[in-house]
Amino acid sequence: MVVPGDDRVTLAGGAQPTPAFADDPPRLASLLSLAVAALDAGRRARGGPVPAGAPGQPHAALRALAGDTLPQHGSGEEAALHALTQLLAEGHADPTEPACAAHLHCPPLAVAVAADAAVSALNPSLDSWDQGPSSAAAEELLLRWLAELAGFDVARAGGTLTTGASASTLTALLLARDGFASGRPLRIACSEHAHFSVQRAAQILGLGEQAVDVVPCDEQGRLAPEALAALAEADRRPRDAAGVRRPGREAAGARVQPARVVVATAGTTDLGAIDPLPAIADLAEQHRWWLHVDAAYGGGALWSRVLRPLLRGLDRATSVALDAHKLGWQPAACGVLLLADRSAMAPLAREVAYLNAADDDAAGYEDRLGRSLRTTRRPDAFKLLVTIHALGVGGLGLLVDRCHELARCVYDTAAAEPSLEVFGPPTLTTVLLRPRLDDPVARDERCATIRRRLLASGTAVVGRTELPGDGPGRRWLKLTLLHPGATVADAQQLISEIARSNR
Ligand SMILES: *Cc1c(COP(=O)(O)O)cnc(C)c1O
Repeated sequence: MVVPGDDRVTLAGGAQPTPAFADDPPRLASLLSLAVAALDAGRRARGGPVPAGAPGQPHAALRALAGDTLPQHGSGEEAALHALTQLLAEGHADPTEPACAAHLHCPPLAVAVAADAAVSALNPSLDSWDQGPSSAAAEELLLRWLAELAGFDVARAGGTLTTGASASTLTALLLARDGFASGRPLRIACSEHAHFSVQRAAQILGLGEQAVDVVPCDEQGRLAPEALAALAEADRRPRDAAGVRRPGREAAGARVQPARVVVATAGTTDLGAIDPLPAIADLAEQHRWWLHVDAAYGGGALWSRVLRPLLRGLDRATSVALDAHKLGWQPAACGVLLLADRSAMAPLAREVAYLNAADDDAAGYEDRLGRSLRTTRRPDAFKLLVTIHALGVGGLGLLVDRCHELARCVYDTAAAEPSLEVFGPPTLTTVLLRPRLDDPVARDERCATIRRRLLASGTAVVGRTELPGDGPGRRWLKLTLLHPGATVADAQQLISEIARSNR
């Protein structure tokens, strides 16, 4: 029993020392350097971009090391950290390897990893002032910088950090439904190449997937603006309150014109295609649509003097999703939702007695809650703030340009390989290719086989996808080139490994 004033009382465990916490510099430094050594050992043991062998092997290895059953006694901090970190690295599909090129999965910058570790050590949360005022300042400044980068009016703009573009788009659509739509049924339009998270967001928001009108694209995977104009025409015809079109119901007073969000994609996940933003922005202005630009991938072009012109028109968006864990070399998660007008965030406002009392806010202990769908929220802004401060726009632009050039080099190499067919020159950093076979069914199968052969041998991580349409023959292998340190020799080797597995 604890008796006040009795200093002989001990807490559970008696004289046993408590483990070190993050405010113990020698212990933290020693554990961090142990983890770094284990990462290196694991990477060496792997010896390639992905562990060779059966896909279930990492499960078996982990259970063999850590046991199947819940440990009752610890094995010690050093032993646990070293062994498990080494195993994690050894069984990893490692984006720091140039041949790991399937996804928008980037090698993280060392400086960003270190900044993220510093955040972990401080463990702030952004849901209230009193869990990290300096972290809130970091988020505010980063959002201001990014609004400037996007070409927004920084005095009006706002936004929030998210777990990624899926959450950014969900948040934007929620704001549109609860604010902009003001009671009208919300309908969404996006292209057939848009990310599936648009449909997922409609599902979560209770709008249902049927609230998404999918608009066709041109050959290069860019949304066709004429199709959007036709949609504007159709919106003028009557629908009931659920958004279902009911011809001949005008007289019954069922005419409800929907509020519309157009989701344009700046950098599609498969092709890196950029929808024609200026034409879409014109239509959005004309029809008073909310224009959300999903620039999860293509937003990276904003850093580059060479590629930035591709994003002309982005500054006319109502909201923009950016992902710095793609073309920004940040450890995940580092998603950003930017809003041209921060007052659009009003629907997120919520006053909660234990977090943001109005009198605290008035006294300067600023409300942080009404900026996110999350409550506890780590300051993912900090690592990107440090990165931009360290490299500048120019330094990040150079990394983007290197990846773009690498993609061009991969494209040229693949185009010169007689056994392979390439889709087209890269817009950003993505190249689609496939074996040159006449039979579409056999070709689709071969794509899958090549990919699995490369995985099983631990040689390369190559993506696969299918372009919109029907029937066989739409499958491609996909290379997403995000490693600015990869060389021409790496590009040539990757293509020759693909060609060698094409048998
Ligand atoms: C990656 C991607 C997303 C999803 O982003 P997350 O960060 O994974 O949530 C959405 N849209 C596009 C175009 C993407 O490339």
